[in-house]
Amino acid sequence: APRPRRCGLISEEVARLYPPRSRYGHKFRTGFVLVVGGSVGLTGAPALAALAAQRAGAGYVQLALPASVRDVVDARLLEQMCLAFPERDGTHDPVSVERLGELAARVGCVALGPGLGRTEAAIAFARAAAAALPVPIVLDADGLGAHAGELELLATRRAPTVLTPHEGELARLLAVDVDEVRAHRLRSAREAARRAQAICLLKGDDTLVALPDGRVAISAGGSPALATAGTGDVLTGIIAAFVARGMEPLAATCFAVLAHARAGAAAARRLGADHVIARDVIDELPAAIAGPG
Ligand code: AMP
Ligand code: MG
Repeated sequence: APRPRRCGLISEEVARLYPPRSRYGHKFRTGFVLVVGGSVGLTGAPALAALAAQRAGAGYVQLALPASVRDVVDARLLEQMCLAFPERDGTHDPVSVERLGELAARVGCVALGPGLGRTEAAIAFARAAAAALPVPIVLDADGLGAHAGELELLATRRAPTVLTPHEGELARLLAVDVDEVRAHRLRSAREAARRAQAICLLKGDDTLVALPDGRVAISAGGSPALATAGTGDVLTGIIAAFVARGMEPLAATCFAVLAHARAGAAAARRLGADHVIARDVIDELPAAIAGPG
């Protein structure tokens, strides 16, 4: 049998795998996303991920937030439910992982990490949550940081894992210098995918999506307008929404990269690349998901 191709561009065909809306579906069944993150001073990231998830087609989005920041986030979001979770040192308390597990039982995908912070409590919480959650997760930002040098912890998870590091985050995950990752992007993404038994999406001006078996999908279509704070949180929300709607994690990740790139390019055409902010990328998502424009 011919060897499968190891590397290829993300195909526009992946858009066809976006599940059509059922006429009879209710909000919980059209994609239930839970965003877990936030900490004192870091409230924008979970809010952006949640908003992006809903715009990308999730019918119901909840946020699990440390108690003292719940109201801050809740005041900004209207359609998303903000839940107060036990807090330690301004971030999530590891004791709440059990409650998180109960909550997650009905959820299609958890986005874990946006704005979580880097305290000891945050690290213990993120590790325990990733290990315990029996549903697919997108692990981003400080959720990745919590697994620095400990990628193998993720390999025992019972459900799919998508990692979404930029080069700095991947370097910390692999415990190598960032120059090493920069010089060997393909090899680094593959290594993380293999060690975590996860999909590893490596961000940058091109984006790589690596699988544990060594296959890699590449997107060269990103817009430099995306080099602005918060666009990574938007991408996390899109992936989570697509997984929650029922797409396979690989297809969901690839289509999210494509839609995110299209949305960034559309926002740049509308506003000029220098003036795009992450919220503009969210605004462009409906058209970006509908087609190449
Ligand atoms: P983060 O670093 O988590 O905020 O994520 C930034 C997002 O913007 C990722 O999806 C990157 O792939 C994307 N991005 C950053 N810089 C560029 C660039 N110069 N060209 C295209 N995409 C970019
Ligand atoms: Mg980020």
